[in-house]
Amino acid sequence: MSEYILRTKNLTKKYKHNYALENVNLNIKQGEIYGFIGQNGAGKSTLLRLITGLAFPTEGTIEWFGNDDPKGLTNAQKRMGALIESPALFPNMSAFENLEIQRIQRGIPGRESIDNILQLVGLMDTKNKKVKNFSMGMKQRLGIGIALLSDPEFLLLDEPINGLDPTGIVELRELIKNINHEKGITVLISSHILSELHLLATSFGIIHKGKLMEELTAKELDEKCRQYLQIKVDRPAIASTVLEQELATSDFEIMQDGTIKLYDYLDDIRTVSLALTQKGLIMEHLSQNGDSLESYFSKVIEEGEHE
Ligand code: ATP
Repeated sequence: MSEYILRTKNLTKKYKHNYALENVNLNIKQGEIYGFIGQNGAGKSTLLRLITGLAFPTEGTIEWFGNDDPKGLTNAQKRMGALIESPALFPNMSAFENLEIQRIQRGIPGRESIDNILQLVGLMDTKNKKVKNFSMGMKQRLGIGIALLSDPEFLLLDEPINGLDPTGIVELRELIKNINHEKGITVLISSHILSELHLLATSFGIIHKGKLMEELTAKELDEKCRQYLQIKVDRPAIASTVLEQELATSDFEIMQDGTIKLYDYLDDIRTVSLALTQKGLIMEHLSQNGDSLESYFSKVIEEGEHE
């Protein structure tokens, strides 16, 4: 079986003269929680609609589960569950009845699986309550429950966090992690809030104006957003010894131009400065550097503006 659950090749969607997506090459590996991040109008929903077959590409191909046969969509659909936009729920029915009606309509066997789903999405205690009395977060979780009815391998969630209160966001995050960890389901989740996706995703795709600007793992993103003290002294080799011996740290790098990146002592810049100058080193530069998640995101997007 392919390592990838989904890959797109030069995927393009054009509406009249505008590109909603342009040559997007997305790579989602099995077992990942893939965070698809972009501002409003960046093309997130369009991509999810193409993947699920709700719309068709102008150009390019989609490979689901290692198969790029266009006819493979019908097969792939059976292995995917999706929550795109708000879930279509019957407000006068209970959570149980909503799941049951969907199960029957989609011809999915196993009435007994509904209680398992209610348990998983945390709605067991309120399974007989009418959905019109549900909070937004409960409705989203029920929507995810409906997407899980067919026991999918791949779950697609389009901006599920939108409109939720802080408790709802935490509950949804825990649910998605649980679905991924316990059931081994690969998840694609879109959002415009990188800090929120960062608490959840194992990989990221950053999209801007229809173009995929960057794909990176959570580890790579953390590296890029790591804070450090940038130190420039006249004799970096001696500074390195001072850091190791006087400040007992080895958490630093010496760059090619002799600048030192120190990942330690971020809250104690004065101690670093004193230790180095007391050894007679001339301090040419000392500052705290590094991107926050949001500033990194803005930087990537800004690069897209100049392309
Ligand atoms: P949002 O979070 O605001 O929905 P998004 O990232 O999901 O943003 P899309 O809805 O995919 O963005 O839209 C991408 C671009 O394609 C936008 O400029 C949008 O106006 C355009 N677009 C989307 N659907 C259509 C359509 N049916 N006809 C014309 N243009 C469209």
